[in-house]
Amino acid sequence: MERFSVTTPIYYVNDVPHIGHLYSTLIADVLARYWRQKLGNDQVWFSTGTDENSQKTVEAAQKKGLDPQRYTDQLAGIWQQTFERLGISFNDFIRTTEFRHKEAVQALLVDMDDSGDIYQGHYEGWYCVGHEAFMKESELVDGKCPEHNRNAEWLKEENYFFKLSKYEKDLLHWFEKNPDWVVPPSRYNEVKQFVKQGLEDISITRQSQRWGIPLPKDTSHVIYVWIDALINYLTTVGYPDQRYRQWWPSVHVIGKDITKFHCIIWPAMLMSVGIEPPKQVLVNGFFTVNGQKISKSLGNAIEPLALSKKYGSDAVRYFLLREIPFGSDGDFSEDKLKQRYVSDLANGLGNLVSRVTNMLEQFAHGQFVRSTTNSPQQLSRHQSAIEQYRFDEALGIMWEHLDAANQLIDVKAPWNMAKEGKRDELNSLLNDLANRVLNIAGLLEPFMPVTAKRIQKAFVEPVKKAEPLFPR
Ligand SMILES: [Zn+2]
Repeated sequence: MERFSVTTPIYYVNDVPHIGHLYSTLIADVLARYWRQKLGNDQVWFSTGTDENSQKTVEAAQKKGLDPQRYTDQLAGIWQQTFERLGISFNDFIRTTEFRHKEAVQALLVDMDDSGDIYQGHYEGWYCVGHEAFMKESELVDGKCPEHNRNAEWLKEENYFFKLSKYEKDLLHWFEKNPDWVVPPSRYNEVKQFVKQGLEDISITRQSQRWGIPLPKDTSHVIYVWIDALINYLTTVGYPDQRYRQWWPSVHVIGKDITKFHCIIWPAMLMSVGIEPPKQVLVNGFFTVNGQKISKSLGNAIEPLALSKKYGSDAVRYFLLREIPFGSDGDFSEDKLKQRYVSDLANGLGNLVSRVTNMLEQFAHGQFVRSTTNSPQQLSRHQSAIEQYRFDEALGIMWEHLDAANQLIDVKAPWNMAKEGKRDELNSLLNDLANRVLNIAGLLEPFMPVTAKRIQKAFVEPVKKAEPLFPR
């Protein structure tokens, strides 16, 4: 039986969810919903969650006078509720401070060690807590990390290292064998280039920190937060229990700033323990808001919940998926959202549903005969757009159908048929229109689940004129 499993990045708890986070999560949600329709609910696994073992978490908790666990409990709750309210249909919300995750991380690290891939060494250099990473001196400006505007610290540590360099050839071989493994191809090329330039071993523990998951062979070290975070993708499907195999390998949806971790370090870690790399890595672009980078200091981080209260979660989902081709950078502006809301949703879809339900009530006692109007060609165009991650195109195809239905009403003028007493012609037109709308609703479900359900309800017989789906 075919199965499908998809993940989002896990998010730092101390950020507030903004529109960029929603976008990655939404892509995974559309895929999960689409494959549930196609394969059945039990055949799909969709996970999202929060990355909590970061040093930044400790600092943020201290500022609030809370212990880190209390603090992460509160914030993880906010993330989970935000996604629930936006209609994100995750099966699992994983938190990296959970015991099951600690177990999975330690099991994997023990296996990596058994493969002879972990060794002790020492490392010193400039460390930026904002990045959770060592920085090159050339990346600093006046001793500060320019991106986080904070002083880098000179850290000298006994660390444990992962023999990443050992997997250079295996990775290149994997890339060659799997030409569509990273989407879009531009991101894949960057990854390949990086590996071709040669890989260095990486430090995977921190000695100076206490918050995090201890390394099993030397508990005076905690595992580097990035190494721990990547393993969430196995934890969620049940690893180290063998049942993880029913879902693995998963499709990962990520942002373009974290490709090295997901497309180089993660598959190498998996190769080290004999587990297959992820099925595919889908990389979305960056978001700007009104042409500017999203940043806390600009205060322009759009909160998805506020938008959703104003326009409804489906309108926000529709806008993001229609306006921004997957893999490209995208710009969010509320003006553009308003335009789409009026032209595509209120005047397009909303108007069609209201006209058809109204005519059924007036001319057909609210009755119609169900049938399917999707031609196999239409369906296959739609499906291949989704399966190749061209979500904007899939929506474009649906809007062609619904514009065509609206035009058919204008051309055929059913109200004249009623006046002239052309009952048969009128009934067959109304049947056709009702089924067209219902078929669109079916295709729309992965993208706009609330709206799809409302349309299906509106066509329960006897049909009455529907309330506006998208009030102006
Ligand atoms: Zn930094």
